[in-house]
Amino acid sequence: MLQVQKASQRAVLRRSRHAAAVHVGRWNPSRGLATPSEPYDAIVIGAGPGGYVAAIKAAQLGLKTACIEKRDALGGTCLNVGCIPSKAMLNNSHMYHQTQHDIKRRGIDVSGVSLNLPQMLKAKEDAVYGLTRGVETLFKMNKVDWIKGTASFVSPTRLSVQLNEGGETEVEAKNIIIATGSDVAPFPGGGIEIDEKQIVSSTGALSLQKVPEKMVIIGGGIIGLEMGSVWSRLGAQVTVVEFLSGIGGAGIDEEIAKQFQKILAKQGIKFMLNTKVLSAEKKDGKVYVSTEGAKGGKEETLDADVVLVSVGRVPVTKNLGLEKIGVEVDPRGRIVIDDQYNTSVQGVKCIGDVTFGPMLAHKAEEEGIAAVEYIKTGHGHVNYHAIPSVVYTHPEVAWVGKTEQELKAAGVQYKIGKFPFTANSRAKTNLDTEGQVKFITEKETDRILGVHIIGPNAGEMIGEATLALEYGASAEDVARTTHAHPTLSEAFKEAAMAAYQKAIHF
Ligand SMILES: Cc1cc2nc3c(=O)[nH]c(=O)nc-3n(C[C@H](O)[C@H](O)[C@H](O)COP(=O)(O)OP(=O)(O)OC[C@H]3O[C@@H](n4cnc5c(N)ncnc54)[C@H](O)[C@@H]3O)c2cc1C
Repeated sequence: MLQVQKASQRAVLRRSRHAAAVHVGRWNPSRGLATPSEPYDAIVIGAGPGGYVAAIKAAQLGLKTACIEKRDALGGTCLNVGCIPSKAMLNNSHMYHQTQHDIKRRGIDVSGVSLNLPQMLKAKEDAVYGLTRGVETLFKMNKVDWIKGTASFVSPTRLSVQLNEGGETEVEAKNIIIATGSDVAPFPGGGIEIDEKQIVSSTGALSLQKVPEKMVIIGGGIIGLEMGSVWSRLGAQVTVVEFLSGIGGAGIDEEIAKQFQKILAKQGIKFMLNTKVLSAEKKDGKVYVSTEGAKGGKEETLDADVVLVSVGRVPVTKNLGLEKIGVEVDPRGRIVIDDQYNTSVQGVKCIGDVTFGPMLAHKAEEEGIAAVEYIKTGHGHVNYHAIPSVVYTHPEVAWVGKTEQELKAAGVQYKIGKFPFTANSRAKTNLDTEGQVKFITEKETDRILGVHIIGPNAGEMIGEATLALEYGASAEDVARTTHAHPTLSEAFKEAAMAAYQKAIHF
C-alpha cells in the first residue's frame, strides 16, 4: 500500500507521471513525496487569505493539516499580486504626490524631488516578500504542511498533486476545503489580449517599468480606480472608461460614488461613463482603444501607451477535477455551497473568491475560520451583512451594510445622518478635509443599517461601523460613546448624532 519514497523511486515516478505508482498519505517536506501514515484530517487547496487562514485555524484546532499551493509563495492573489502590492504602490505614490504638491503649504520646502520607480517597485516587492515569508513561518509554527504543487480531485477524499519540483503524488484527507480563489477576467467577448506589457491586467499594472504617458483603464471598479490613482500620481494621464453610469463597482452608495468621482476628477483622472469599449489595437508602440456609447451612439478612439483591463475576476475551477467527483458549479463558474460551506459533495467544503459573495480577502479569511469550525465543532459564524469594503485611494472610500439605493428599492423607511470632514477639527488640523461620514439608520428603531465614508482614513474608521453593525447598535449607541479628541473618528460619532438627533459641530 503506502511506501516511503526514495530518490531513485522519485525519478521513476517523474518518468511515469501517469502510472499507477502514486503514493497516498501524509506529505513529508524533508523527503519530498508522500510517506506512509494516516490521512490528513484536513487538506486545503490554495493558500490565499481564505486557504492559509483555514489551514492555520485547522491546525490550531488540533487537526492534522496540509495546504496545497502551486505558487512559489504563500498568500495567494492578495499577498502576491493583489491587496498588498497595490497598497504598497498606493501608499508610496501618495507620498510622492504629497511631497510634490502638498507639503509646501505645510511649511516644508523640498527641492529636487524625483521618482525612482525601480526603488518604488522594490519597496513593493519587499513588502510582498516579507509578508509571504511570514505566512510560511506561521505554517511552520502551526505545523501545517505546505505541499508545493497543483491539486486535482481523484475522489472526494483523495487528491492528486502535480508537484512543482516534478512528479506526482496523492494525498488523502477526511475533509477537503477548496480555496482556489479567482483570476483576472478576460475582456468580455474576447478580442483584447492581455500581454502584461502594453495591455495589462492588474498584475501587469503593479509592475510597469516606466510611467506611461497615457493610460486607459477599462472598468471603473475598485481595482481600476486604485491602479489609476497610482499611475496618475506618478505622472500618467489616466482615462477611465466605464460602461455603467457611476464608478466604484457594486455596493457603493450612489451619492458617495458621485462625490468620489468629482474628487478623483479634480486630481486629474478623466472619466468616460456610460461608455463601451469595443476593441484595443496595438500599432506603432501605441494602443488604440475604440469606444462607443453604452447604448450605441458617439464613437471615439483613445490612444494610450498602456491599457489596463480591469473588468472583474473569475473563479478558478479549471482542471480541479470537480466534474469527476460531482461538485456543482453555477452558471458564473462559482462553486455552489450551502450555509456551512459544504459543496454538493460530502466532506468537500469551499470558501473565498471561488464561491459566492464579495471577492475580498477578509471575507475569504472569515469563511476559512468558519468552515474549519464547522468541521471541528459543527458551528461557525460569518455575518454577511457586516463585510466592509474599502477603496484605498486618497481620500479613501469605505462602506459597510446597506446603501440608500438598496433601501429605497426594498421600501425600507430610513433616516440619514451626515457629517463633513470640513467640520472635523483633526481633518482641519491635518489640512485634509475632503469627504464625509454618512449614517443610514432604520427610521423606526434607529438601528444602523449602513455606514458610508469618504475621507481620510476611511478604511480604518469603517472597522468601528462594522463592529456597530455586528452588535446591532443604534445610532444613539454610537452617539453616546466617547470618542477621543481631536480625532477623525469624531466625524463618525457626529454623523451618528446627526442620524439620531443633531450633530454639535455642523
Ligand atoms: C489588484 C488587486 C487588489 C486587491 N486589493 C484588495 C484589498 O485591498 N482588499 C481585499 O480585501 N481584497 C483585495 N483584492 C481581492 C483579494 O485579493 C481576494 O479577494 C483574495 O485574495 C481571495 O482570497 P482566496 O483565498 O479566496 O483566493 P486567492 O487569494 O486567489 O488564492 C487562491 C490560491 O489558490 C492557488 N490555487 C488555485 N488552484 C490551485 C490548485 N489546483 N492547486 C494548488 N493551488 C491552487 C492559487 O495559486 C492561489 O494562490 C484585490 C485583488 C486584486 C487583484
